[in-house]
Amino acid sequence: MDSITTLLQNNERWASRLQAEDPEFFERMEEAQKPPFLWISCSDSRVPANQIVDLEPGQLFVHRNIANLVVHSDVNAQSVIQYAVDVLHVEHIIICGHYNCGGVKAALDNDTLGLLDHWLGNLRDIFEAHKEEISRINTEQGKVRRCCEINVKAQVFNVSQSPFVQKVWRDNRSLSIHGLIYDLHDGRLKDLGITINESISASDYLGK
Ligand SMILES: [Zn+2]
Repeated sequence: MDSITTLLQNNERWASRLQAEDPEFFERMEEAQKPPFLWISCSDSRVPANQIVDLEPGQLFVHRNIANLVVHSDVNAQSVIQYAVDVLHVEHIIICGHYNCGGVKAALDNDTLGLLDHWLGNLRDIFEAHKEEISRINTEQGKVRRCCEINVKAQVFNVSQSPFVQKVWRDNRSLSIHGLIYDLHDGRLKDLGITINESISASDYLGK
């Protein structure tokens, strides 16, 4: 699995198999997309969006970046959110983090990584705000694990602060933002129980 030829051969086999199983599959894909979910997750190759929730093409509108961050000034992420809520009218936005996240680990280390430090600075700010809780955890692995969860919670809140999300709620439309975390160890997704369904203040949400 190290050449473009392999990818093209895999694609041919995949498309042929789908066509054989469901002759109208690609005709349906040509119609406008109407995915019910916006899925925001890490770029990590071990966390493939559609595969881990066993969904076919057309079901997830996806945005991925290192450590599944939603930064207010990130025009890319905010454009995805705007399109998802304004045009696709998704009613569920999912932040899917994962344990053992390399981005989270790098943010906890103090190594200098170049441009990536600007991105990881968003994580370092979050962990600074939780430093007392993090310092009480005895093991490095435990710290990383908890920080992966803390990050998902912070990103769920960040999505809720998007002006496009706030407008949906002002218009009395239904929109839920969920925080899930994926365990590389056993392939299971866990709902962190931190869903936001309406406009909420930082002190009410992050203080919980
Ligand atoms: Zn990651």
